[in-house]
Amino acid sequence: MTTELILVGGGLANCLIAYRILMERPNFPLLVVERGASLGADHTWSFHDSDLTANQRRWMEPLIAHRWSSHELRFPGRRRTINDGYNSVTSERLHRVVAAALGDRMRLGTEVAKVGTNAILLSDGEHIEARAVIDGRGDPGGNHLDIGYQKFLGLFVRLAEPHGLIAPILMDATVEQVDGFRFVYTLPFSDTEALIEDTYYADEPDLDRNRLRSRIEDYAEKQGWAIAAITGEEAGVLPIVLGGDIDAFWAVGSERVARSGMRGAFFHPTTGYSLPEAVRLADEIAAIPDLESASLFELTRRRSGELWRRTGYYRLLNRMLFRAAEPELRYRIFERFYGLSEGLIRRFYAGRLKWIDKARVLIGKPPVPVHRALRCFAENRGPRSTLSSSNGGIQ
Ligand SMILES: Cc1cc2nc3c(=O)[nH]c(=O)nc-3n(C[C@H](O)[C@H](O)[C@H](O)COP(=O)(O)OP(=O)(O)OC[C@H]3O[C@@H](n4cnc5c(N)ncnc54)[C@H](O)[C@@H]3O)c2cc1C
Repeated sequence: MTTELILVGGGLANCLIAYRILMERPNFPLLVVERGASLGADHTWSFHDSDLTANQRRWMEPLIAHRWSSHELRFPGRRRTINDGYNSVTSERLHRVVAAALGDRMRLGTEVAKVGTNAILLSDGEHIEARAVIDGRGDPGGNHLDIGYQKFLGLFVRLAEPHGLIAPILMDATVEQVDGFRFVYTLPFSDTEALIEDTYYADEPDLDRNRLRSRIEDYAEKQGWAIAAITGEEAGVLPIVLGGDIDAFWAVGSERVARSGMRGAFFHPTTGYSLPEAVRLADEIAAIPDLESASLFELTRRRSGELWRRTGYYRLLNRMLFRAAEPELRYRIFERFYGLSEGLIRRFYAGRLKWIDKARVLIGKPPVPVHRALRCFAENRGPRSTLSSSNGGIQ
């Protein structure tokens, strides 16, 4: 059977696109090509109930490995429980569910060397053609976005005794503030199993893994949690966008190849999280009756531009966080934010702030010096890219 659609990279975004298309058209001839040994690498992706619609939560259900009905925030001057459900998708679950739907329509351990509008070239020289290609190879790098970082190291731990948590702690910022805004994120998977992540909103992307491991161990000890075993580890350095040039970002490489996930800048500017946008894109692509390269490119390019324009306000807040606040006082911005209404907080993470929400976030005594806050209102466009020359649509 001829391949209709090639999904380059079997990460979160392309797995969701494939899975969603196959829900509607189980026999659709697509192909996922992933260089790793399994789909989705080694991540735990979480999202709030309110990030998605009821229908989206329904189709995501088989991928959810853990669910809690609320979550907690802790700051020096505020402790709060928010009654919004929180969900985690593990790569293990993603692989199991999506691989079963794909059957022989996936190639693992396969490196793609070049990506074109209607074909890919594998590193072993094999050439595969299709009516459309979606590039989901993750963050393309480059310097067209002005970014800070959300970086973290997480340890999966088994404890000697139950931890006593009933809900995740999304931010425990009562810890020492070093390297920017620091907090610990804890997902309690069972009474004695948890993922504990030491997280920083920092100017630099470097991760000192040994230091972070020992900070997590110190944190666990202070909570009274005796670690019996460390069963795994995950680390991430996610972009927090302060400004930049989305056109230049898209101009790198072949201009006409559709993109998904981080490759297409489909992520939340303030968290670097991409799952909700990946779900939305999967829904939209699966609804297209005729999947072909030109219209898929137009769709992903247009959606990415719209997301960029819609999220200018988030980039302003990010600039206030990174440029107006002293690094060790950045936590105050989040502490103040978490004093606002639950509805507003939900809309913030879902990327659906109303104008009145935007005003509420900014009104009042700012937790940063006013003169520095005012300077953040101007958004610089990043350096313009040099357009790469076309080579038959293959990059
Ligand atoms: C540890 C970690 C935790 C995160 N947690 C969350 C979270 O809780 N919630 C959330 O919304 N976001 C989270 N994110 C952020 C973001 O959602 C993830 O980075 C997400 O995986 C991005 O999806 P993607 O499909 O764009 O890229 P990826 O999931 O990174 O997928 C890209 C895939 O392409 C493959 N690939 C790359 N090059 C080639 C090639 N040449 N040939 C073949 N295959 C190739 C890679 O092996 C990879 O599997 C997290 C990120 C990390 C790193």
